[in-house]
Amino acid sequence: MEKLHKIKVLILGSTGSIGTQTLEVMSGHADKFQVFGLTCNSNKKLLQAQAKKYKVPGSKICVSSENQKKIYELIKDENVDVVVNAISGADGLKPAIATLKAGKILALANKESVVLDGTNLKKLEKKHARKGAKILPLDSEHHAILRLLEAENMQAFDSKRVSKIIITASGGPFFGYVKKQLKKVTLKDALNHPNWNMGPKITIESATLLNKGYELIEAHYLFSAPLKNLDAIIDRKSFVHAIIKFKNPRKTLAIAYKPDMKIVIGDTLLKLHYEIYEKNTSKKFANKKIKILEGEVISKYKFDQIDHKTFPAIKNIIKEFKTGRIYDFYKRKEETIERFLTGEIAFHELL
Ligand code: NDP
Ligand code: MG
Repeated sequence: MEKLHKIKVLILGSTGSIGTQTLEVMSGHADKFQVFGLTCNSNKKLLQAQAKKYKVPGSKICVSSENQKKIYELIKDENVDVVVNAISGADGLKPAIATLKAGKILALANKESVVLDGTNLKKLEKKHARKGAKILPLDSEHHAILRLLEAENMQAFDSKRVSKIIITASGGPFFGYVKKQLKKVTLKDALNHPNWNMGPKITIESATLLNKGYELIEAHYLFSAPLKNLDAIIDRKSFVHAIIKFKNPRKTLAIAYKPDMKIVIGDTLLKLHYEIYEKNTSKKFANKKIKILEGEVISKYKFDQIDHKTFPAIKNIIKEFKTGRIYDFYKRKEETIERFLTGEIAFHELL
């Protein structure tokens, strides 16, 4: 039997929530994927345990807080096919840029890099496309948008064919709260996300709905979609991930599955394998749990409107974005979230 080739994956931020889930997915398909390299910020112990388990040599692991250059050597290594960028925060941006410049596939969980430098990342993706540069979103809503567009033979927003792209939000742990109640919530409450088990920064961003603001900007850049054609609504169960209203012919499609990032990671990586090594470009999802819902069926699910008065983050970020102040806004938010996580400020001060 012909031996199938393996896709070699470098995981940046392998010790985090997305990083560890990527390793789990890959180990479930060890015939298709090889862990090329692993990086973390400071959690050396876990990094070394991962390296041992997945047989990654010491020369292919990197602790960024000790060696800031090595990550770029790993990214540029000619044996790397895919870079999973699962670093949290603005420090994910430079590695994202380096990945595209190296002509690699960038499986991007680090949405901060798109928010901060989306125009440039899309430019680099185009410039280095012939070498193989491509951005694949590892964010459930954006993965869902991509799959819905692909189902209609599209890659990006097209005003002739799409009227609206809607992403869902869970509403976070404080859905339905009024301002007064938010003054009493604790760090523990804020870290207790109802549907997803994520790293601390994004969990807090979800509790304030700031994450959804970032995701609207992420969708704007990744799919060249005008902000006026983008919207967000609440699905408390995070079962529906994105909804697209198409025109000519008119129809509404949504992607749904029980919230689990391993589904997003697995679908993304397996599809790549099918395309690269099995020459299989069929539209079927690599993961059978993913469903496309159509029209009537979607309206059977319960959606809620976002309470922008209590959670002004989305409106605020869009305003800052439109006036070109997103970088400073992001930096301010990153700093205040850090202060909240270390107990210096209260939750309502994040709003
Ligand atoms: P975690 O906090 O769980 O993990 C972050 C990872 O990045 C860790 O491996 C950490 O290393 C590493 N890291 C942190 N800071 C730096 C730095 N300055 N330089 C290099 N490495 C660093 O985060 P998540 O996995 O939850 O999130 C990662 C990204 O994915 C974020 O951008 C988030 O918004 C996005 N995302 C996450 C989802 C989720 O379900 N978790 C869903 C969709 C998007 P160490 O362990 O050593 O600190
Ligand atoms: Mg998301």
